[in-house]
Amino acid sequence: MNIILLGPPGAGKGTQAQKLVDGRNMVQLSTGDMLREAKTSGTEMGKMVAAVMDRGDLVTDEIVIGLIREKLEAGGDHGGFIFDGFPRTLAQADALGELLAEMGQTLDHAIELQVNDDILVERILGRAAEAVAAGGKARADDNEESLKVRLMAYYKQTSPLIGYYHAKGDLSSVDGLGTMDEVEASIANVLG
Ligand code: AMP
Repeated sequence: MNIILLGPPGAGKGTQAQKLVDGRNMVQLSTGDMLREAKTSGTEMGKMVAAVMDRGDLVTDEIVIGLIREKLEAGGDHGGFIFDGFPRTLAQADALGELLAEMGQTLDHAIELQVNDDILVERILGRAAEAVAAGGKARADDNEESLKVRLMAYYKQTSPLIGYYHAKGDLSSVDGLGTMDEVEASIANVLG
């Protein structure tokens, strides 16, 4: 089973993906995590995307599609892929459909986590404060200024995917405002 978790930054995609990894032996493919890793390890690609990411804009389709292609081609024995933070543009959505088709696989569900903007700002700034309190560093893009850009990128470039997957018959929407366990239960309900 392959699924996409769709939703704005702070909607809880990463948290819910982790629950699916633990509960269903699925593999989480987070392009955000892959890009942060490239940034931290200082690869050429990491250097190229650093400023764009810190600002809150999207990196090019070519880069993220390449990252996803590599992971899909690596294969492995597991309960399916959870696409977390990918696709984020219509071009990425088309590319994902083609990649899966090439591998004889399908997309089973695109699950939209519905939340409101107030909660997002609260969660993201809370996540930054928690990281610092724990003696670590907040994500470079977890600040008010970058968050505005990330939200705008979501509404302009990513939210059209809701219509796209609705038209394909793959979309399910769940309330992302409940507790983590409530949201987990709603997702389990969709997956059956
Ligand atoms: P995330 O961890 O999903 O919030 O992603 C962090 C940042 O990585 C985003 O703000 C973008 O700059 C970049 N990024 C992650 N996934 C994508 C994607 N699918 N397309 C373009 N940029 C992405």
